[in-house]
Formats: sequence, C-alpha cells, structure tokens
Amino acid sequence: MKRPFDPATEIQNYLVFGEFGDVNPSICDSSTYTFLSVAKMEEVFEHELEGCFLYSRHWNPTNRYLADALARMENGAAAQVMASGMAAISTTLLQMCSAGDEIVSGRTIYGGSYALLANLLPRFGITTRFVDLGDAAAVRAALTERTRVLYCESLSNPLLEVADIPALAALAHERGARLVVDNTFSPLLLSPLRLGADVVVHSMTKFINGTSDCVAGCVVAAHDFIAALNDINHGPSMLFGPVLDSIRAASILKNLHSLHIRMARHSANALYLAERLAGLGLPVHYPGLPAHPQHALLNRLMNPGYGCGGILALDVGSKELADRLMLRLQEARVGYLAVSLGYFKTLFSAPGHSTSSEIPAEERARIGMGDGLIRFSVGLDNDIGRTWRTIRGILAELGIGSRE
Ligand code: PLP
Repeated sequence: MKRPFDPATEIQNYLVFGEFGDVNPSICDSSTYTFLSVAKMEEVFEHELEGCFLYSRHWNPTNRYLADALARMENGAAAQVMASGMAAISTTLLQMCSAGDEIVSGRTIYGGSYALLANLLPRFGITTRFVDLGDAAAVRAALTERTRVLYCESLSNPLLEVADIPALAALAHERGARLVVDNTFSPLLLSPLRLGADVVVHSMTKFINGTSDCVAGCVVAAHDFIAALNDINHGPSMLFGPVLDSIRAASILKNLHSLHIRMARHSANALYLAERLAGLGLPVHYPGLPAHPQHALLNRLMNPGYGCGGILALDVGSKELADRLMLRLQEARVGYLAVSLGYFKTLFSAPGHSTSSEIPAEERARIGMGDGLIRFSVGLDNDIGRTWRTIRGILAELGIGSRE
C-alpha cells in the first residue's frame, strides 16, 4: 500500500554524506569552482550539469542540499534557497510577470509583501488588485486575461485567515494564471503544491530555521521554473543575486530536521493559550479554535500531526492597552517584544504599528486589523500552564478579559 505523504518523513529520508562520510554534509566554503578542462567549464556555463558547479551565485553544493530537502518537504520537483523571504517572493513574481501584467493578491498579507505589490512592482509596470480571498466571486471578478499570478499566504499574517488553496488554484487556472502561496506560517502542516498551488515560497527566517539567527528564504516549484530563476541571461535570482551564504544553509538544514517536533509543540502551546484567552471572552484569532471561520477548512486541508500552527492574534481594543500588555509580558519573561516569528521563545508585536504598518490605516481598519491587535508567535515553553498563569495574572492586573 502506498504510504500517505508526510513532509517530515520526506525530510527524514533525505540522507546525504559529507566528503569524509560526515553525517552533516561538508560545507562548501567557495565562491568559485575549478575545472580540469576548458570544454567542461563552457558546458557548465551553458547548462546545469549534475554534480558540477561553476560559481556560487548560480549554485553552491551546500545550498543544493538544503534546496533538495525543501523540495522534498513541499513535494515539489525543485527548489532554490535565497538570502531572505522577500528575495524569494520578489524574484518569483518578477519571473512570472512582465510590464503590463497583473497580480491578484489576498488583502491580509505580510506588510513587506504588500509594499512590494502596492508600491515597488508598479514601477516595473506590474499592478496588483487586493481582494478578500474568502469571496470567490470577488477573486473571479479580479482575475483578467492579464493576470499572471494569484498570490496568497496559506495562513495570513497577522489575521490567520486560511486560504482555500484548492479553490484558489482552480480559479487561477481557469484564467490561465498561476497560484503562488507563501507558506511561511504553516510549514509541514500545509503542503500547498499537493493542494494545487504552482509555486511555494517561504521566509525560512521563521519556523523553518527556528532560531532567529539569520534571514533566509526559498522557492519550491517545477524544475523549469527554478531553472528559469537561475537563467544566466534572464533569471531574476541569477541577475539580482540574493544568494544564501553556504554556512547559513548548512545550519538551516540541521534545524530543518527538528521542524516536525517544533511545529507540533508550537501548535499545542498556541492552542492551549488560544483556548484560555477565548475562555476569558477575548477576541482571539486562532484557526485551531472551532469558532474560527475557517476551522473546518483548515482541518480538511492540513497534514495530520502538526496542529494548527504557532501563531495567534489577540485584540485588546486599543494601542495603549496593547503597548502596556506587551511591556508587562516582556517584564514577566513570557517572551520578547519583537517582530518576526517561529522562534523557540514567544515573540509578540502589534502588527498595525510594525510588520503590517505598510498597509494603509483605512485598509487595516477595513480588514479588521485594529490598533489593539497583538500577534503572538508562541514559543516552545516546556510548561505552558505556568506561562498561562503568568499571562492571566497580567491580564487581570490590566483589567483585560472577564470570565473564564
Ligand atoms: N512572508 C511572511 C508571511 C512574513 O511574515 C515575512 C516576514 O515577516 C516574509 C515573508 C519576509 O521574509 P524575510 O524577512 O525573511 O525577508
């Protein structure tokens, strides 16, 4: 019987040996590579040749190991690693779109991605319509014959709306467009390529690496797409050059092997806190709660065993209260007042004034991202019950929440 797809097993089965049989593959610390014949060098310059490397902006063996593991994890044919999540997103979109083309994007996305689509890409003649992805009629109406890309986040940042990837893929394909999914919030738990997406991007800065010690990104797609990104004459990755350093690629690959344990724990801890915050009558966004509008959808789409993700958002009503709460939580060592996510400790910030501040205030208000909204990336706390008691005490002190 064919075993069901499990992304963590795919990573686990990815075994490579170093030069000396090292269990961690040797790090290739070179920008350039030597050849024993000029003819071979010319051949490699023109085509990709298995096992041959020319120059590290093109490919590096250590980056290749990480890319191969990520392709397996996402059930894609090929992958490319890059120096940041934004590099992965921007090169992907520039590969797919030319001047005059259009993108349709979800309206609740990471602020940097929003700014790229709303402000920078129009300078290159590429325009974006932002829509509510939960409204299929609105998505269909926004897609035109000029649309090349339908863009979404699997779990949106910071409101945690769940993208109906199979339905969005069908809508995009109907119009001849392709679906690009940013899967940063849900590695392992969602496999967008298996659900119909054409390209997956990640900020590996977050859960995939998990130690908040570097910035990195990746793209997973068909072979042709990854080869085109690297084309020496036209490829945005080759020509903009956002190369990941090989020493970082090696450390991310090591961390990738514990991702399944971390995701399960992040999710269990986030669910624990979300249930208790909801129990106090607080407006909490977490797709693992049955009250979340896309709870059933997520259950239908997700791979079992990794929970519903490590991010939750809590609306305390005002910026003033959000600021006081975050400072008190940091003083009490619940976590850090910091942007980013996927770290082993809890991180919290108010998206309206940080990671989503690029989205205009009126738009933030329209999509329900109030000034009192705090995004929590819940850590790997060993005793989440104790963490909750600390949080509950601080909420009571600040008069936030009523019943339990
Ligand atoms: N995508 C999402 C969902 C993010 O949250 C972020 C960063 O916060 C990015 C992409 C950008 O990634 P990076 O900071 O690695 O460039």
